[in-house]
Amino acid sequence: MEKLEKYAKENNIPIMMKDGIEFLLEFIQRNNVKNILEIGSAIGYSAIRMALIDKNIKVTTIERDNERYEEALKNIKDYNVEEQIIIINDDAFNVELSDKYDLIFIDAAKSQYIKFFEKFKLNLNKNGFIVSDNLNFHGLTKVEPKDLSKNVRGLVKKLNSYIEFLNSNDEFETYFYDVGDGVSVSQRKEVL
Ligand code: SAH
Ligand code: MG
Repeated sequence: MEKLEKYAKENNIPIMMKDGIEFLLEFIQRNNVKNILEIGSAIGYSAIRMALIDKNIKVTTIERDNERYEEALKNIKDYNVEEQIIIINDDAFNVELSDKYDLIFIDAAKSQYIKFFEKFKLNLNKNGFIVSDNLNFHGLTKVEPKDLSKNVRGLVKKLNSYIEFLNSNDEFETYFYDVGDGVSVSQRKEVL
């Protein structure tokens, strides 16, 4: 795994942070999660780590960038998890899935989180979880807007609206964890 972590660092690929991924892997084990959908594979790092927990875990993961997709394919082969991971090279908004998943992991374009959530909750099992990464945006969601560049300010605004969307959601209850770059876990209220 150090090889992948090093590659990601050198090529500026935003894979999950160390304690964030540890949290996610533990969560998957603790809740006996078996079928996972991931939005944003990058080079396959988190998908591979989730698959390596247990042979019975299946991951479907979506990546729109061709170069990262190719790298992910190679890594999935290298770690011998081809039988457990399906990777789709497309924009997640073009992908229609009919399967249901125990966990949906949103780790893609920060400006689209509400849209990912609304689209893919239809693929969530009744008792399933939606986990989102990067809610702290490296601490930027807590910085005064006037101290941010216009571009970053826009993204922070979108992330804050996502947090607001989760907090005021009638259907889902969300817990926020200050691990990694900020992780949330949402579950349907009716099953709590
Ligand atoms: N989950 C990975 C990191 C993903 S980084 C890990 O922790 O190892 C986020 C990735 O999401 C990027 O590679 C980006 O290309 C991809 N992405 C962003 N928006 C997307 C979309 N709409 N559909 C598919 N992939 C998307
Ligand atoms: Mg992330």
